[in-house]
Amino acid sequence: YSAKRDKTHFTVYTHQDDLERRQQLRLAQDLPDAVKNNQLVLNYQPIVRISDQQVIGVEALVRWQHPKQGLIFPDSFIPLAEGSGSIDALTEWVLEQTIIQGSSWLAQGTRLSVSVNISALILHNPAFPDMVAKKLEKTGFPAGLLKLEITESAIISDVSRATEIVTRLHEMGVRLSIDDFGTGYTSLAYLRKLPFDEIKIDKSFVLNMTQVADDEVIVRTLLDLAKSLGLSVVAEGVEDARTWKVLEALDCDVAQGYFMSRPIDLEAFNSWIITQPWKDELK
Ligand code: C2E
Ligand code: MG
Ligand code: MG
Ligand code: MG
Repeated sequence: YSAKRDKTHFTVYTHQDDLERRQQLRLAQDLPDAVKNNQLVLNYQPIVRISDQQVIGVEALVRWQHPKQGLIFPDSFIPLAEGSGSIDALTEWVLEQTIIQGSSWLAQGTRLSVSVNISALILHNPAFPDMVAKKLEKTGFPAGLLKLEITESAIISDVSRATEIVTRLHEMGVRLSIDDFGTGYTSLAYLRKLPFDEIKIDKSFVLNMTQVADDEVIVRTLLDLAKSLGLSVVAEGVEDARTWKVLEALDCDVAQGYFMSRPIDLEAFNSWIITQPWKDELK
């Protein structure tokens, strides 16, 4: 144990910690204006049915084009939005944009489901289902093409309230999906009780499943579980053709990942869906 080394560590750590905290505080303060001033940007990542290679949907993923700090990814600001009360406005903005975009694709003859990520905190807001209903009514977008992805940990924090809200959304015809499945603490009993349609197997299990036998076992087991409960399954984090083929052999329904496409902006997505270069690699 060296006092000198400890002191050095202490100084360096405090300095960085402080800087980081101040930066986070500033970001949190900037967030409400980010929504108002159109600094949020949506990227779209395709979701593909494995059996016939059809693109059946997109997931909307938010980014923040910060005027000083450049492009910021959601893992760095969603927690801040949750902590500072901006998450409701942010979610409403994402929903609005996504439903409008989904309607526009539909009007052009491209039928895609649109997936929106919903923070845990939203499931404590009893006004949320009505807000969604209004947006669907305004555009005429079919509820069945809207999918809400809820991260597992959301469900346990207030089960009865969350159950009410999830049930309302389900009755409206909105599809419900559990995101990052396998990483949280969802009791399997909730899976049966709550009206979910789908689970998304977390990418940490999928990324290396062709090399790591245990990961493949986990994916296979989650597929079995979902089938038994009548849920459909999306595998996240499909990065290569080999993983696609293994998932196909395991009878997984749907895939999402860099192999097909990274999340990309609207313009890039609209041309990707025409050319779909990923299919060449399956031949
Ligand atoms: P998520 O919903 O699980 O989204 C998937 C994340 O995995 C995305 O990261 C995506 O870019 C990444 N990904 C997709 N395919 C692959 C792959 O093949 N390999 C690897 N390594 N990664 C892949 P992103 O866009 O940084 O988003 C991170 C998380 O931020 C999302 O995880 C979601 O929980 C949250 N998020 C994004 N947009 C929103 C939003 O509008 N509202 C809320 N509440 N959360 C959001
Ligand atoms: Mg998601
Ligand atoms: Mg997530
Ligand atoms: Mg995920």
